[in-house]
Amino acid sequence: MNTQTTITDDLIVTLDGPAGSGKSTVARQLAKRLGVDFLDTGAMYRGITALCLHHDVDPSTQADEALAIARQSDLQFDWQTDPPALYGQGIDLTGRLRDADVTSQVSAIAALGPVREILVDAQRKIGKAHPRLVTEGRDQGSVVFPNAQVKFYLDASAQVRAHRRAEQLRQAGKEADEKLICEQIIERDHKDSTRKDGPLICPDDAVKVDTSQMTLDQVVDHLYQAVMQRLARV
Ligand code: C5P
Repeated sequence: MNTQTTITDDLIVTLDGPAGSGKSTVARQLAKRLGVDFLDTGAMYRGITALCLHHDVDPSTQADEALAIARQSDLQFDWQTDPPALYGQGIDLTGRLRDADVTSQVSAIAALGPVREILVDAQRKIGKAHPRLVTEGRDQGSVVFPNAQVKFYLDASAQVRAHRRAEQLRQAGKEADEKLICEQIIERDHKDSTRKDGPLICPDDAVKVDTSQMTLDQVVDHLYQAVMQRLARV
């Protein structure tokens, strides 16, 4: 069940999907089982958002200022911690990433084309430095790593996703209004899938998995088996 594999060849596995589909948790555990690194690209968009708020810049009305911050963000993951801590301009942003103000502004940052270019470029560089990688986001299989060896698209109903996110917040000792979270998720899905640059889509060559009725262990196991089958075929 919890076998750990030693992957020696380069292997990029992408997990795309909407907010709260369980991508981050699944990707982290899948990476562990495969014995490879894990990249949470949502954390990068959240990191830029947290930096904007730190500098009193409102990403939805001050796009130029937000872009200037993104250019100077110098985002760095600490790969020694689990999950990797995220620094921007030398500030540890990790504790801010899931705060409500950051969550409510992150779509504005993600909709800025030039910010996406900076982060897509940074993600490809990370892929070069960490060529055995499970990476998750909205555009990893479709835009950032189109040649990834294995691509997944994770989905779940908005209600299930809101419940999961609320539980995550409660476990972190934060308050959670599930109805409000559900409304925000639906709004964020809409913004993510209708934006011009890097919209949320299921890549043609991705394995689509609906996780609504699955436990975390079942999802991780399903993906792990799919990766191993794919590798056995190469
Ligand atoms: O996955 P997470 O909820 O942390 O992502 C936060 C936001 O960052 C998403 O709602 C989306 O707007 C944006 N994002 C993105 N592309 C990615 C990862 C995240 O646009 N690859």
